[in-house]
Amino acid sequence: MTPHPDLAELELQELEAALATRGGEPFHARQMYRWIHKRGVTDIDKMTDLSRTLRARLREDVEISTPAIVGDEQSVDGTRKLVLQLRDGRRIESVFIPDTPAMTFCISTQVGCAMACDFCLTGKMGLVRHLTAGEIAGQVRVLAAATGMLDTSFNIVLMGMGEPLHNYDNTMKALRMLHSTYGLAVSPRRVTLSTVGIVPALERLGREALMPNLAISLHATTDEQRTALVPPNRKYPLAAILDACRLFPLKNRSRITFEYVMLDGVNDTPDDARRLVTLLNGIKAKVNLIPLNPAPGIPYDRPSDDRVDRFAQILADRHITVSVRKSRGRDIRAACGQLIVEGGTKKTAAQQMALLIK
Ligand code: SAH
Repeated sequence: MTPHPDLAELELQELEAALATRGGEPFHARQMYRWIHKRGVTDIDKMTDLSRTLRARLREDVEISTPAIVGDEQSVDGTRKLVLQLRDGRRIESVFIPDTPAMTFCISTQVGCAMACDFCLTGKMGLVRHLTAGEIAGQVRVLAAATGMLDTSFNIVLMGMGEPLHNYDNTMKALRMLHSTYGLAVSPRRVTLSTVGIVPALERLGREALMPNLAISLHATTDEQRTALVPPNRKYPLAAILDACRLFPLKNRSRITFEYVMLDGVNDTPDDARRLVTLLNGIKAKVNLIPLNPAPGIPYDRPSDDRVDRFAQILADRHITVSVRKSRGRDIRAACGQLIVEGGTKKTAAQQMALLIK
């Protein structure tokens, strides 16, 4: 253990161990966990139910970090985007989306992203670094505190910056921290993990005790096109991802969501829709169509509502549940694929693949 552990990074048992060597009892760990993760208080002096001696000892000897709000913008539609600064000065974005119909927090798992999807601004940044578990969980409590929701239930979508399965251990640890009854007690049923489909990580996810809902960013129906749009497809092609989905252990009535970003004249034809129906055969699936949120530097356009509707109708006619994602917060650049902060370093495609294979 480092001489100055960051207590915000610890699960309850780890916190118990860290306190045990500093004169604390297990119940102190539960009290501190509640302060940090349930009440959003990270100033030891405000943890009034800890003895003065313990507080004094800890003040010398531990840190409790929390993301700092350095930007806070509200969209006309109620969506709110926070820019959060981490302890090393890096910045990430986290988004609150009200009434979807639930209240939803859209959380980042990395600073930047290594996947380099051709239509995503975060992908253009390259990967700066993974977030720690404490930083991933920290976004949730900072958003919950900022929106007055520390005591209400909300959904979490891991659809902010980054690829959650590329930062597997920290993402799963964050979900355990959020699930703790001494913290925000977030049920995994309220969490959706969205991924480009890193097959070995999907297999691992299927064995997790705390398993979130799964969303796969499919976006194309042929390997040629998907590799052009979502480069990790070269290593994990459609058939491998869909096989992993077929084997994925789903609870009774749950289904895998397939996200499909719609690019005008590229992947939005009736043939694409029919191929998608064939690909999803035998999978308990629902499809979420995401008309592109265009941005400068993104070489695609958003299709017309008519094209989107025609595509959706082909799926619906084949009894596939389909929804069209309403784009929220576009005026404040909080919509899907629009999260980007300065400081990114663009990597070459080869470097990106090297990162992926690690
Ligand atoms: N890396 C994960 C999660 C982050 S992105 C993943 O790829 O699933 C969340 C969703 O937003 C993904 O489906 C992604 O493909 C989509 N997205 C990215 N850029 C977009 C854009 N410009 N317009 C619409 N959706 C976009």
